[in-house]
Amino acid sequence: MTRALIVVDVQNDFCEGGSLPVAGGAQIAHDVNRLVRRWQARLPDAPDYAHVVATKDHHIDPGAHWSREPDFVDSWPVHCRVGTDGEAFHPNLDPQPFDAVFLKGEHAAAYSGFEGSTAEGVPLATWLRDHQITDVDVCGIATDHCVRATVLDAVQEGFAVRLLPGLCAGVAPETSEAAMAEMIDAGAGVA
Ligand code: ZN
Repeated sequence: MTRALIVVDVQNDFCEGGSLPVAGGAQIAHDVNRLVRRWQARLPDAPDYAHVVATKDHHIDPGAHWSREPDFVDSWPVHCRVGTDGEAFHPNLDPQPFDAVFLKGEHAAAYSGFEGSTAEGVPLATWLRDHQITDVDVCGIATDHCVRATVLDAVQEGFAVRLLPGLCAGVAPETSEAAMAEMIDAGAGVA
C-alpha cells in the first residue's frame, strides 16, 4: 500500500474574499497546510504519504461554466481565471511541498482532479500510477463539487480512497451531505 494525499482546489476564488467563496475555505487552507507541514517534517504522528499533490481550477475560456447569471449548479461566476490572483493557491496554503500540481478546466468545466494534468501534460491517474500509488486521501474545496467528482473518479480509476471530511469545505450543507453519502456508496472510506 502506497498512499498519496490529493488537495483539491484550495484557491483564493474558493475562499473568503474570492469570487466564488465557500465558507470555511481559508480555515481549510490553514488546516491542510498544517497537515502537509507535519508530513513534510516527517513528524512521528504525521500521515505516511509517499506524495502530496494538488489540483487547481485553471480557466482560460471555460464556455458556459462561467455566467453573468449563474445557476450555481452548472454555471458559476467568473472564477479561477488563469493569470489572476483568484487562481492562486490561498496564502494559508504553502504550495512548496506539493510534488505535482494538476491543472483542469482551461476550455471547459472540469470538476474532477482526474481531468487535470501537470504543466507538462501528465494526467493525474497516470502520475499516481507512475509513482506506484495505490491509495489516496482526498481533501479540499468544495465537498459537494470538485472533491466529490475527484473522489468518485479516484474510485473509478481503481484507487483505494479515503475522504478527509475535517479538511473539506462544502458550498451548502444539504448538497455536501448528499455528496458524502454518494462517495461512501461508491466505495470511498472516511478517515
Ligand atoms: Zn471552475
